[in-house]
Amino acid sequence: METSFIIAKFGGTSVADYPAMVNSANIVIANPNVKVVVLSASAGITNLLVALAEGRDINIRSKHIAKIQSIQYSILENLPENPALRAEIDQIIANIASLSEAASLATSPALTDELVSYGEIMSSKLFVEILKEKQKNAIWFDVRKVMRTDDKFGKAVPKIDEIKQLCCAHLKSLNPETIVVTQGFIGSESTGKTTTLGRGGSDYTAALLGEALNATQIDIWTDVAGIYTTDPRITSGAKRIDEISFAEAAEMATFGAKVLHPATLVPAVRSNIPVFVGSSKAPQEGGTIVYNTHSIKSALPSFRALALRRKQTLLTLTSLNMLHAQGFLANVFTILAKHNISVDLVTTSEVSIALTIDTTGTNTNGNSLLTKALFDELSTVCHVEVEEDLALIAIIGNNLTTTKGIAKEVFGALDDFIIRLCCYGASTHNLCLLARSNDAEEVIKVLHKTIFE
Ligand code: ASP
Ligand code: MG
Repeated sequence: METSFIIAKFGGTSVADYPAMVNSANIVIANPNVKVVVLSASAGITNLLVALAEGRDINIRSKHIAKIQSIQYSILENLPENPALRAEIDQIIANIASLSEAASLATSPALTDELVSYGEIMSSKLFVEILKEKQKNAIWFDVRKVMRTDDKFGKAVPKIDEIKQLCCAHLKSLNPETIVVTQGFIGSESTGKTTTLGRGGSDYTAALLGEALNATQIDIWTDVAGIYTTDPRITSGAKRIDEISFAEAAEMATFGAKVLHPATLVPAVRSNIPVFVGSSKAPQEGGTIVYNTHSIKSALPSFRALALRRKQTLLTLTSLNMLHAQGFLANVFTILAKHNISVDLVTTSEVSIALTIDTTGTNTNGNSLLTKALFDELSTVCHVEVEEDLALIAIIGNNLTTTKGIAKEVFGALDDFIIRLCCYGASTHNLCLLARSNDAEEVIKVLHKTIFE
Protein backbone atom coordinates (compact mmCIF):
# COMPACT_ATOMS: atom_id res chain seq x y z
CA MET A 1 0.00 0.00 0.00
CA GLU A 2 1.14 3.47 -0.81
CA THR A 3 1.86 5.63 2.19
CA SER A 4 0.40 9.06 2.42
CA PHE A 5 2.33 11.84 0.80
CA ILE A 6 1.29 15.43 1.28
CA ILE A 7 2.29 18.58 -0.58
CA ALA A 8 1.86 21.64 1.61
CA LYS A 9 1.63 25.14 0.16
CA PHE A 10 1.99 28.27 2.25
CA GLY A 11 0.74 31.58 0.89
CA GLY A 12 2.29 35.03 1.23
CA THR A 13 0.85 35.85 4.65
CA SER A 14 2.03 32.45 5.96
CA VAL A 15 5.63 33.39 5.12
CA ALA A 16 5.27 37.15 5.63
CA ASP A 17 7.67 37.43 8.55
CA TYR A 18 9.62 35.33 11.02
CA PRO A 19 6.71 34.42 13.35
CA ALA A 20 4.54 33.46 10.34
CA MET A 21 7.35 31.30 8.93
CA VAL A 22 7.80 29.60 12.29
CA ASN A 23 4.07 28.78 12.46
CA SER A 24 4.26 27.36 8.96
CA ALA A 25 7.41 25.36 9.74
CA ASN A 26 5.69 23.91 12.80
CA ILE A 27 2.81 22.76 10.62
CA VAL A 28 5.26 21.04 8.27
CA ILE A 29 7.05 19.35 11.14
CA ALA A 30 3.86 18.25 12.87
CA ASN A 31 2.95 16.02 9.94
CA PRO A 32 5.66 13.60 8.82
CA ASN A 33 3.69 12.93 5.64
CA VAL A 34 4.47 16.41 4.35
CA LYS A 35 7.34 15.79 1.94
CA VAL A 36 7.19 18.78 -0.38
CA VAL A 37 6.62 22.38 0.65
CA VAL A 38 5.62 25.00 -1.92
CA LEU A 39 5.96 28.65 -0.96
CA SER A 40 4.70 32.01 -2.10
CA ALA A 41 6.83 35.11 -1.78
CA SER A 42 6.58 36.88 1.58
CA ALA A 43 3.44 39.07 1.56
CA GLY A 44 3.95 42.33 -0.31
CA ILE A 45 7.11 41.29 -2.13
CA THR A 46 5.51 40.28 -5.43
CA ASN A 47 3.63 43.59 -5.65
CA LEU A 48 6.88 45.49 -5.11
CA LEU A 49 8.67 43.41 -7.72
CA VAL A 50 5.84 43.88 -10.23
CA ALA A 51 6.06 47.64 -9.68
CA LEU A 52 9.82 47.54 -10.26
CA ALA A 53 9.32 45.51 -13.42
CA GLU A 54 7.07 48.22 -14.80
CA GLY A 55 10.08 50.53 -14.85
CA ARG A 56 10.48 53.18 -12.15
CA ASP A 57 12.78 56.12 -11.64
CA ILE A 58 15.78 55.71 -9.41
CA ASN A 59 14.11 57.20 -6.31
CA ILE A 60 11.13 54.88 -6.38
CA ARG A 61 13.39 51.95 -7.23
CA SER A 62 15.57 52.52 -4.21
CA LYS A 63 12.52 52.86 -1.96
CA HIS A 64 10.98 49.63 -3.23
CA ILE A 65 14.25 47.73 -3.03
CA ALA A 66 14.84 48.96 0.51
CA LYS A 67 11.35 47.74 1.45
CA ILE A 68 12.02 44.30 -0.06
CA GLN A 69 15.33 44.12 1.75
CA SER A 70 13.81 45.08 5.07
CA ILE A 71 11.06 42.43 4.80
CA GLN A 72 13.59 39.68 4.08
CA TYR A 73 16.21 40.95 6.52
CA SER A 74 13.67 40.97 9.33
CA ILE A 75 13.42 37.20 8.86
CA LEU A 76 17.13 36.68 8.35
CA GLU A 77 17.94 38.56 11.51
CA ASN A 78 15.86 36.20 13.61
CA LEU A 79 17.94 33.27 12.43
CA PRO A 80 21.33 32.42 13.94
CA GLU A 81 24.18 34.21 12.16
CA ASN A 82 24.42 32.70 8.67
CA PRO A 83 26.88 34.55 6.42
CA ALA A 84 26.31 32.25 3.43
CA LEU A 85 22.55 32.84 3.47
CA ARG A 86 23.01 36.57 3.99
CA ALA A 87 25.37 36.67 1.00
CA GLU A 88 22.80 34.83 -1.11
CA ILE A 89 19.99 37.21 -0.17
CA ASP A 90 22.29 40.19 -0.81
CA GLN A 91 23.21 38.80 -4.21
CA ILE A 92 19.51 38.39 -5.07
CA ILE A 93 18.79 41.95 -3.98
CA ALA A 94 21.67 43.16 -6.17
CA ASN A 95 20.17 41.22 -9.10
CA ILE A 96 16.78 42.78 -8.39
CA ALA A 97 18.39 46.22 -8.47
CA SER A 98 20.08 45.66 -11.81
CA LEU A 99 17.03 44.07 -13.43
CA SER A 100 14.90 46.95 -12.15
CA GLU A 101 17.29 49.39 -13.74
CA ALA A 102 17.06 47.45 -17.00
CA ALA A 103 13.25 47.54 -16.72
CA SER A 104 13.33 51.31 -16.36
CA LEU A 105 14.99 51.47 -19.78
CA ALA A 106 12.87 48.84 -21.49
CA THR A 107 10.43 46.50 -19.85
CA SER A 108 9.32 43.15 -21.24
CA PRO A 109 7.18 40.26 -20.03
CA ALA A 110 10.24 37.98 -19.88
CA LEU A 111 12.16 40.50 -17.80
CA THR A 112 9.14 40.90 -15.51
CA ASP A 113 8.96 37.17 -14.85
CA GLU A 114 12.66 36.96 -14.13
CA LEU A 115 12.38 39.85 -11.70
CA VAL A 116 9.27 38.68 -9.84
CA SER A 117 10.62 35.13 -9.49
CA TYR A 118 13.06 36.38 -6.86
CA GLY A 119 10.20 36.76 -4.37
CA GLU A 120 9.59 33.02 -4.18
CA ILE A 121 13.30 32.27 -4.41
CA MET A 122 14.05 34.38 -1.33
CA SER A 123 11.14 33.12 0.79
CA SER A 124 12.06 29.50 0.06
CA LYS A 125 15.75 30.06 0.88
CA LEU A 126 14.80 31.56 4.23
CA PHE A 127 12.25 28.85 5.01
CA VAL A 128 14.78 26.04 4.49
CA GLU A 129 16.95 27.59 7.18
CA ILE A 130 14.04 27.75 9.60
CA LEU A 131 13.41 24.04 9.11
CA LYS A 132 17.12 23.26 9.49
CA GLU A 133 17.15 25.32 12.67
CA LYS A 134 14.49 22.92 13.92
CA GLN A 135 16.79 19.98 13.15
CA LYS A 136 14.92 18.96 10.04
CA ASN A 137 16.56 17.55 7.00
CA ALA A 138 15.34 20.13 4.49
CA ILE A 139 16.66 20.95 1.04
CA TRP A 140 16.05 23.92 -1.24
CA PHE A 141 14.88 22.89 -4.66
CA ASP A 142 14.62 25.11 -7.73
CA VAL A 143 11.14 24.37 -9.06
CA ARG A 144 12.18 25.64 -12.51
CA LYS A 145 13.98 22.31 -12.99
CA VAL A 146 10.59 20.58 -13.14
CA MET A 147 7.90 23.23 -13.75
CA ARG A 148 8.11 23.29 -17.53
CA THR A 149 5.78 25.78 -19.23
CA ASP A 150 5.25 27.39 -22.59
CA ASP A 151 6.74 30.84 -23.15
CA LYS A 152 3.66 32.97 -22.49
CA PHE A 153 5.47 35.10 -19.93
CA GLY A 154 3.22 36.40 -17.21
CA LYS A 155 0.66 33.65 -17.64
CA ALA A 156 2.55 30.62 -18.79
CA VAL A 157 0.76 27.36 -19.43
CA PRO A 158 2.26 24.30 -17.72
CA LYS A 159 3.21 21.24 -19.78
CA ILE A 160 1.74 18.43 -17.75
CA ASP A 161 3.58 15.47 -19.30
CA GLU A 162 6.97 17.11 -19.20
CA ILE A 163 6.40 18.17 -15.60
CA LYS A 164 5.64 14.58 -14.71
CA GLN A 165 8.78 13.27 -16.39
CA LEU A 166 10.95 15.96 -14.83
CA CYS A 167 9.48 15.32 -11.38
CA CYS A 168 10.26 11.62 -11.76
CA ALA A 169 13.82 12.42 -12.74
CA HIS A 170 14.52 15.03 -10.07
CA LEU A 171 12.26 14.45 -7.12
CA LYS A 172 11.10 10.85 -6.96
CA SER A 173 14.35 9.35 -5.71
CA LEU A 174 14.89 11.71 -2.81
CA ASN A 175 15.45 10.41 0.65
CA PRO A 176 12.00 10.01 2.26
CA GLU A 177 13.30 11.74 5.39
CA THR A 178 14.06 14.89 3.41
CA ILE A 179 11.64 17.79 3.20
CA VAL A 180 11.84 19.46 -0.20
CA VAL A 181 11.23 23.21 -0.06
CA THR A 182 10.41 24.83 -3.35
CA GLN A 183 8.75 27.81 -5.03
CA GLY A 184 5.22 28.33 -6.19
CA PHE A 185 4.23 30.55 -9.11
CA ILE A 186 7.43 30.29 -11.17
CA GLY A 187 8.50 27.93 -13.92
CA SER A 188 10.69 27.85 -16.98
CA GLU A 189 10.16 27.52 -20.70
CA SER A 190 12.09 25.08 -22.89
CA THR A 191 15.21 27.22 -23.23
CA GLY A 192 15.41 27.80 -19.49
CA LYS A 193 14.00 31.32 -19.23
CA THR A 194 11.95 31.97 -16.12
CA THR A 195 8.17 32.15 -16.54
CA THR A 196 5.28 32.67 -14.11
CA LEU A 197 1.86 31.04 -13.93
CA GLY A 198 -0.06 34.27 -13.28
CA ARG A 199 -0.73 36.15 -10.04
CA GLY A 200 -1.73 33.91 -7.17
CA GLY A 201 -0.34 30.93 -9.08
CA SER A 202 1.36 29.19 -6.16
CA ASP A 203 -1.73 27.13 -5.36
CA TYR A 204 -1.65 25.94 -8.93
CA THR A 205 2.02 24.94 -8.59
CA ALA A 206 1.20 22.87 -5.52
CA ALA A 207 -1.58 21.09 -7.38
CA LEU A 208 0.59 20.47 -10.45
CA LEU A 209 3.39 19.01 -8.33
CA GLY A 210 0.85 17.02 -6.34
CA GLU A 211 -0.41 15.52 -9.55
CA ALA A 212 3.05 14.83 -10.98
CA LEU A 213 4.23 13.16 -7.77
CA ASN A 214 1.02 11.25 -7.03
CA ALA A 215 0.45 13.07 -3.76
CA THR A 216 -2.35 11.77 -1.59
CA GLN A 217 -3.33 15.26 -0.49
CA ILE A 218 -2.59 18.91 -1.29
CA ASP A 219 -2.69 21.21 1.73
CA ILE A 220 -3.20 24.92 1.06
CA TRP A 221 -2.30 26.97 4.12
CA THR A 222 -3.52 30.52 3.99
CA ASP A 223 -4.85 33.20 6.36
CA VAL A 224 -8.42 31.89 6.67
CA ALA A 225 -9.42 28.63 8.29
CA GLY A 226 -11.05 27.16 5.21
CA ILE A 227 -13.75 28.00 2.71
CA TYR A 228 -16.77 29.91 4.00
CA THR A 229 -20.38 30.18 2.85
CA THR A 230 -19.46 33.72 1.88
CA ASP A 231 -16.73 36.25 2.62
CA PRO A 232 -16.82 36.63 6.45
CA ARG A 233 -15.92 40.30 6.02
CA ILE A 234 -19.33 40.85 4.41
CA THR A 235 -21.43 39.04 6.98
CA SER A 236 -20.59 37.62 10.37
CA GLY A 237 -23.18 34.95 9.58
CA ALA A 238 -20.69 33.30 7.19
CA LYS A 239 -19.99 29.73 8.23
CA ARG A 240 -17.06 27.48 7.53
CA ILE A 241 -17.81 24.61 5.16
CA ASP A 242 -16.12 21.45 6.45
CA GLU A 243 -16.26 19.46 3.25
CA ILE A 244 -17.14 20.53 -0.25
CA SER A 245 -17.06 18.95 -3.69
CA PHE A 246 -14.56 19.84 -6.40
CA ALA A 247 -17.38 21.18 -8.57
CA GLU A 248 -18.71 23.50 -5.88
CA ALA A 249 -15.25 24.76 -4.93
CA ALA A 250 -14.36 25.33 -8.58
CA GLU A 251 -17.51 27.43 -9.06
CA MET A 252 -16.62 29.44 -5.98
CA ALA A 253 -13.08 30.11 -7.18
CA THR A 254 -14.30 31.10 -10.63
CA PHE A 255 -16.91 33.45 -9.25
CA GLY A 256 -14.59 35.37 -7.01
CA ALA A 257 -14.13 33.55 -3.71
CA LYS A 258 -10.50 34.36 -3.03
CA VAL A 259 -9.54 31.22 -1.12
CA LEU A 260 -8.32 29.09 -3.99
CA HIS A 261 -6.80 30.12 -7.29
CA PRO A 262 -9.30 29.01 -9.95
CA ALA A 263 -6.80 26.80 -11.79
CA THR A 264 -5.74 24.92 -8.65
CA LEU A 265 -8.51 22.45 -8.77
CA VAL A 266 -7.94 21.37 -12.34
CA PRO A 267 -5.05 18.97 -11.59
CA ALA A 268 -6.67 17.92 -8.31
CA VAL A 269 -9.90 16.96 -10.05
CA ARG A 270 -8.07 15.33 -12.95
CA SER A 271 -6.10 13.15 -10.59
CA ASN A 272 -8.66 12.97 -7.82
CA ILE A 273 -6.43 14.37 -5.09
CA PRO A 274 -8.18 15.91 -2.07
CA VAL A 275 -7.29 19.53 -1.30
CA PHE A 276 -7.30 20.83 2.26
CA VAL A 277 -7.55 24.57 3.02
CA GLY A 278 -6.64 25.87 6.46
CA SER A 279 -5.11 28.79 8.34
CA SER A 280 -1.41 28.61 9.15
CA LYS A 281 -2.02 30.93 12.12
CA ALA A 282 -4.66 28.64 13.59
CA PRO A 283 -4.12 25.09 12.35
CA GLN A 284 -6.02 23.78 15.37
CA GLU A 285 -9.21 25.31 13.93
CA GLY A 286 -9.14 22.79 11.10
CA GLY A 287 -10.34 23.80 7.67
CA THR A 288 -12.17 22.70 4.57
CA ILE A 289 -11.50 19.57 2.62
CA VAL A 290 -12.32 19.61 -1.08
CA TYR A 291 -12.81 16.29 -2.81
CA ASN A 292 -15.03 14.36 -5.16
CA THR A 293 -18.71 14.03 -4.41
CA HIS A 294 -18.42 10.33 -3.51
CA SER A 295 -16.17 11.17 -0.59
CA ILE A 296 -18.60 13.70 0.90
CA LYS A 297 -20.34 12.24 3.87
CA SER A 298 -23.20 14.70 4.26
CA ALA A 299 -25.87 15.19 1.58
CA LEU A 300 -25.01 17.85 -0.99
CA PRO A 301 -27.12 20.93 -0.17
CA SER A 302 -29.04 22.89 -2.82
CA PHE A 303 -27.36 26.07 -1.65
CA ARG A 304 -23.71 25.96 -0.67
CA ALA A 305 -22.16 29.41 -0.92
CA LEU A 306 -22.37 32.96 -2.24
CA ALA A 307 -19.54 34.55 -4.17
CA LEU A 308 -19.11 38.15 -5.18
CA ARG A 309 -17.17 39.62 -8.06
CA ARG A 310 -17.05 43.37 -8.41
CA LYS A 311 -16.18 45.62 -11.34
CA GLN A 312 -18.43 43.99 -13.87
CA THR A 313 -19.27 45.82 -17.06
CA LEU A 314 -22.43 44.98 -18.93
CA LEU A 315 -22.51 45.37 -22.70
CA THR A 316 -25.85 45.29 -24.42
CA LEU A 317 -25.46 44.71 -28.13
CA THR A 318 -28.48 45.32 -30.30
CA SER A 319 -28.94 44.66 -33.96
CA LEU A 320 -32.18 44.65 -35.85
CA ASN A 321 -30.46 42.33 -38.31
CA MET A 322 -30.55 39.70 -35.64
CA LEU A 323 -34.25 39.15 -36.25
CA HIS A 324 -34.57 35.69 -37.79
CA ALA A 325 -30.93 35.88 -38.84
CA GLN A 326 -28.03 33.50 -38.43
CA GLY A 327 -24.51 34.22 -37.41
CA PHE A 328 -24.94 37.36 -35.30
CA LEU A 329 -23.71 35.69 -32.11
CA ALA A 330 -20.81 34.20 -34.03
CA ASN A 331 -19.86 37.63 -35.40
CA VAL A 332 -19.99 39.28 -32.02
CA PHE A 333 -17.99 36.59 -30.27
CA THR A 334 -15.39 36.53 -33.02
CA ILE A 335 -14.82 40.23 -32.47
CA LEU A 336 -14.63 39.78 -28.69
CA ALA A 337 -12.14 36.92 -29.06
CA LYS A 338 -10.01 38.96 -31.43
CA HIS A 339 -9.74 41.63 -28.73
CA ASN A 340 -8.97 39.08 -26.01
CA ILE A 341 -12.20 39.71 -24.15
CA SER A 342 -13.47 36.89 -22.03
CA VAL A 343 -17.19 36.93 -21.38
CA ASP A 344 -18.73 35.73 -18.11
CA LEU A 345 -22.50 35.91 -18.29
CA VAL A 346 -24.64 36.02 -21.41
CA THR A 347 -28.34 36.45 -22.01
CA THR A 348 -30.05 36.92 -25.33
CA SER A 349 -33.36 38.20 -26.62
CA GLU A 350 -34.75 38.44 -30.10
CA VAL A 351 -32.62 41.38 -31.23
CA SER A 352 -30.04 41.84 -28.50
CA ILE A 353 -27.34 40.18 -26.45
CA ALA A 354 -26.34 41.25 -22.96
CA LEU A 355 -22.98 40.09 -21.70
CA THR A 356 -20.74 40.82 -18.77
CA ILE A 357 -17.03 41.41 -18.75
CA ASP A 358 -14.82 41.42 -15.73
CA THR A 359 -12.91 44.69 -15.72
CA THR A 360 -10.92 44.06 -12.55
CA GLY A 361 -7.98 43.03 -14.66
CA THR A 362 -6.28 45.28 -17.13
CA ASN A 363 -3.98 44.24 -19.93
CA THR A 364 -0.21 44.20 -19.47
CA ASN A 365 0.11 47.91 -20.30
CA GLY A 366 -2.23 48.67 -17.42
CA ASN A 367 -4.94 49.85 -19.82
CA SER A 368 -8.57 48.88 -19.77
CA LEU A 369 -9.51 45.73 -21.65
CA LEU A 370 -12.35 47.64 -23.27
CA THR A 371 -10.49 49.54 -25.97
CA LYS A 372 -11.72 52.00 -28.56
CA ALA A 373 -10.69 49.50 -31.24
CA LEU A 374 -13.06 46.95 -29.73
CA PHE A 375 -15.99 49.38 -29.66
CA ASP A 376 -15.26 50.56 -33.18
CA GLU A 377 -15.37 47.04 -34.47
CA LEU A 378 -18.49 46.07 -32.52
CA SER A 379 -20.21 49.19 -33.87
CA THR A 380 -19.87 47.85 -37.39
CA VAL A 381 -22.28 45.00 -36.54
CA CYS A 382 -24.49 46.37 -33.76
CA HIS A 383 -25.43 49.19 -31.46
CA VAL A 384 -23.47 49.01 -28.19
CA GLU A 385 -24.55 50.16 -24.75
CA VAL A 386 -22.24 50.07 -21.75
CA GLU A 387 -23.22 49.95 -18.08
CA GLU A 388 -20.60 50.00 -15.36
CA ASP A 389 -20.47 49.68 -11.57
CA LEU A 390 -22.17 46.33 -11.47
CA ALA A 391 -21.39 43.31 -9.33
CA LEU A 392 -21.79 39.64 -10.10
CA ILE A 393 -23.31 37.59 -7.32
CA ALA A 394 -23.09 33.84 -7.78
CA ILE A 395 -25.28 31.50 -5.80
CA ILE A 396 -23.47 28.20 -5.78
CA GLY A 397 -25.00 24.87 -5.00
CA ASN A 398 -26.14 21.53 -6.31
CA ASN A 399 -28.97 20.27 -8.50
CA LEU A 400 -30.16 23.84 -8.88
CA THR A 401 -31.75 23.13 -12.24
CA THR A 402 -33.67 20.10 -11.02
CA THR A 403 -34.94 21.36 -7.67
CA LYS A 404 -38.30 23.04 -7.19
CA GLY A 405 -38.62 26.50 -5.68
CA ILE A 406 -35.05 27.70 -6.25
CA ALA A 407 -36.04 30.89 -8.08
CA LYS A 408 -38.73 31.74 -5.55
CA GLU A 409 -36.36 31.39 -2.65
CA VAL A 410 -33.71 33.55 -4.26
CA PHE A 411 -35.83 36.26 -5.85
CA GLY A 412 -38.31 36.32 -2.98
CA ALA A 413 -35.50 37.64 -0.79
CA LEU A 414 -34.52 40.36 -3.22
CA ASP A 415 -37.63 42.55 -3.30
CA ASP A 416 -35.68 45.64 -2.38
CA PHE A 417 -33.07 45.43 -5.09
CA ILE A 418 -32.76 46.00 -8.78
CA ILE A 419 -31.45 42.85 -10.41
CA ARG A 420 -30.06 43.89 -13.74
CA LEU A 421 -29.50 40.43 -15.20
CA CYS A 422 -29.88 36.81 -14.21
CA CYS A 423 -28.24 33.64 -15.55
CA TYR A 424 -29.60 30.27 -14.65
CA GLY A 425 -29.66 26.95 -16.39
CA ALA A 426 -26.27 26.53 -18.02
CA SER A 427 -24.84 24.85 -14.94
CA THR A 428 -26.67 22.95 -12.29
CA HIS A 429 -24.19 24.42 -9.80
CA ASN A 430 -24.92 28.13 -10.09
CA LEU A 431 -27.43 30.90 -10.44
CA CYS A 432 -25.81 34.25 -11.18
CA LEU A 433 -27.19 37.74 -10.70
CA LEU A 434 -25.97 41.15 -11.65
CA ALA A 435 -26.70 43.85 -9.08
CA ARG A 436 -25.61 47.42 -8.63
CA SER A 437 -22.21 47.67 -7.04
CA ASN A 438 -23.53 49.76 -4.16
CA ASP A 439 -26.14 47.12 -3.36
CA ALA A 440 -23.86 44.11 -3.65
CA GLU A 441 -22.96 43.58 -0.01
CA GLU A 442 -26.55 44.10 1.09
CA VAL A 443 -27.73 41.58 -1.50
CA ILE A 444 -25.25 39.05 -0.15
CA LYS A 445 -26.32 39.71 3.45
CA VAL A 446 -30.00 39.31 2.66
CA LEU A 447 -29.49 36.20 0.54
CA HIS A 448 -27.18 34.68 3.12
CA LYS A 449 -29.79 35.21 5.83
CA THR A 450 -32.51 33.69 3.73
CA ILE A 451 -30.73 30.63 2.46
CA PHE A 452 -28.18 29.84 5.18
CA GLU A 453 -29.16 31.32 8.54
N1 ASP B 1 3.65 35.51 -5.16
C1 ASP B 1 2.73 35.38 -6.24
C2 ASP B 1 1.66 36.45 -6.16
O1 ASP B 1 1.63 37.20 -5.21
C3 ASP B 1 2.13 34.01 -6.33
C4 ASP B 1 1.30 33.58 -5.14
O2 ASP B 1 1.43 34.10 -4.05
O3 ASP B 1 0.52 32.65 -5.30
O4 ASP B 1 0.86 36.54 -7.04
MG1 MG C 1 -0.99 34.28 -2.66
